Amino acid sequence: MGVKVGVLALQGDVSEHIAAFRQALADRPGSMVIPVRHTEDLAGLDALAIPGGESTTISRLIEKNGLYEPLAEFEGGVFATCAGMVLAADRVDDPRVRTLNLISMHVTRNAFGRQVDSREVLLAVKGLSEPFRAVFIRAPVATEAGPGTEVLARIPEGIVAVRNGRHMAFAFHPELGGDLRLHRMFLEGLGV
Ligand code: GLN
Repeated sequence: MGVKVGVLALQGDVSEHIAAFRQALADRPGSMVIPVRHTEDLAGLDALAIPGGESTTISRLIEKNGLYEPLAEFEGGVFATCAGMVLAADRVDDPRVRTLNLISMHVTRNAFGRQVDSREVLLAVKGLSEPFRAVFIRAPVATEAGPGTEVLARIPEGIVAVRNGRHMAFAFHPELGGDLRLHRMFLEGLGV
């Protein structure tokens, strides 16, 4: 059976997420990956990706498009990266972001300091037999994982990969670089 994945398409690296999920689902006939801009786009989705970008901007656009409640109540799995991780959290250090409270964790934005724009780390991730080449771009970290949130990877600055039920969040960008192991792990966890 096919899997239906939406990518929140308000701001950020939307096309990279669409391309990565299309590739990860290439062997699942009947699957589709669609951009999500309005509440009706969420109907029938098994999963939703919340992309990297600027979490304050995405948060503002979520409100503007009337998407806050539909997203906070979304019942499929959520695959959140970077700014998406900030939005998926239930606590953040920046009051301009209204979090969706999907994953219990405290997130700090731009946790690597202003000078460090991006960084690549060979990262050990729980559940992967080989390390993952993780690209961090003005990334957040989680400083604390709450009830039900499993830590999958951490670096000295903090927690950078988590799972909570069907949801996963990453401070880095698994949608860049062509390594789809984390997408596959996520899709397996959906149970569809
Ligand atoms: N610094 C951004 C934010 O906190 C995230 C950067 C990214 O998504 N690459 O919104």
